[in-house]
Amino acid sequence: MAQTTPSTQKNIIILGGSYGGISSTHYILKHVVPALPSSSSYQVVLVSTSTQAMCRPACPRALISDDFFDQQKLFVDITKGFEQYPNSSFRFVHGTATSLDHTARTVSVSVAADNSIESFAYHALVIATGASTPSPLFGLNQGETILRESWAAFRKALPAAKTIIIAGGGPAGIETAGELGEYLNGRAGWFSSNLANPKVAITVVTADSKILPALRASIAAKAEVQLAKVGVTVIKNARVTNAVPIGGAAGADRVSKTTVTLSDGQTMEADLYIPATGLIPNTNFVAKELLTSNGRVETSSTTLRVEKAGPRVYAVGDVSSAARPAIHILMEAIPVLCANLKRDLLLDAGKTESEVGAERTFKEDTSETQMVAIGTKKGVGAAMGWQLPSFMVWLIKGRDYWLWTTGNLWSGKQWTKET
Ligand SMILES: Cc1cc2nc3c(=O)[nH]c(=O)nc-3n(C[C@H](O)[C@H](O)[C@H](O)COP(=O)(O)OP(=O)(O)OC[C@H]3O[C@@H](n4cnc5c(N)ncnc54)[C@H](O)[C@@H]3O)c2cc1C
Repeated sequence: MAQTTPSTQKNIIILGGSYGGISSTHYILKHVVPALPSSSSYQVVLVSTSTQAMCRPACPRALISDDFFDQQKLFVDITKGFEQYPNSSFRFVHGTATSLDHTARTVSVSVAADNSIESFAYHALVIATGASTPSPLFGLNQGETILRESWAAFRKALPAAKTIIIAGGGPAGIETAGELGEYLNGRAGWFSSNLANPKVAITVVTADSKILPALRASIAAKAEVQLAKVGVTVIKNARVTNAVPIGGAAGADRVSKTTVTLSDGQTMEADLYIPATGLIPNTNFVAKELLTSNGRVETSSTTLRVEKAGPRVYAVGDVSSAARPAIHILMEAIPVLCANLKRDLLLDAGKTESEVGAERTFKEDTSETQMVAIGTKKGVGAAMGWQLPSFMVWLIKGRDYWLWTTGNLWSGKQWTKET
């Protein structure tokens, strides 16, 4: 039976310790709680399946070897960033939200240390549990142990691999193909359009008529040229309809040999198969009535409130329906979400509408903005509708996959100012 933790304080609970959850927790501790009357009566509780935060975009390169990144920067203990706040105002719970009762306003958490269920009453709630990928290679959604184990199994199988199939022509699939191609095959010279006889045959399969759906066709075509130079072939207009491990070794990490069947009837064998298609929102603890048809938390795209869940409930990041999943968009949502939370808490504490001011509205940046690294030296992309040269993509992203940005995020420095 669930144990309810008695608390004399009002809980502001944040679910999920990554870009959305860690950012909102810092922002709330710095700018929301201190502005409330009797601020010591609130406690901010961050709940996460993983004790560590990581630079998720780095996965396509980091999964190959630990030598590419400083591991102390790639994985950071979540609690370290919160040592700056008084113990009475912050608590970290290593656990997974298993059910949300939005009528009783409680959330049940399976605590990692002993698998016990702890139930928390919340005064305000931020859902930031993100989304999982079909492959465990791309993030911390099942925690750091599973991620490390799947990387280890992949690295063990890599030296013997002669064929690799990647399903999905989005940025995760394309970046993984580019990294593996460059690492295993090297790069063709300036005057060769492709790499003749690559050591490892790497194939990307996409259901679309082009790769990289968020970028215009001419940029996607440039990516294909760069991929060909590291020995990657793209099959378009075909979907992977079945992927069966050969010999029945059905490991979730798919590091065993796999028979892959495509929608055009083709059957291929892969020494390694990587499903890099689509995101699965982490919402299995949320009532169906709060979800959209694609499983995201139904969130107002302007206020970031989850209106059907009752007062003071918000969602942000990949779990939320408010905007498309991308870190630069999420970062713009945090100050809006926290300003509206602050306003809602002040009203609840007895302030009047005229004292708290107008609510903030969020507007998603829908411009063509995406950078895609193709190995450690090249890339394609656009920012606010402007095509970027390969060198710029390398400089901003491909050099270290945004690791230069995460120190300030995990420590909260990014949110020193109220914006
Ligand atoms: C391979 C790859 C490359 C990417 N590259 C880029 C890029 O270059 N640029 C860009 O803008 N975006 C990129 N993205 C997308 C970006 O990583 C996401 O938009 C971002 O991670 C979303 O952050 P989030 O906080 O919403 O959720 P996530 O990062 O998914 O984190 C969710 C957190 O919640 C925890 N959690 C999950 N379920 C529960 C639960 N029930 N209870 C408690 N905790 C839970 C998880 O352990 C995790 O720590 C990439 C994504 C992938 C997979």
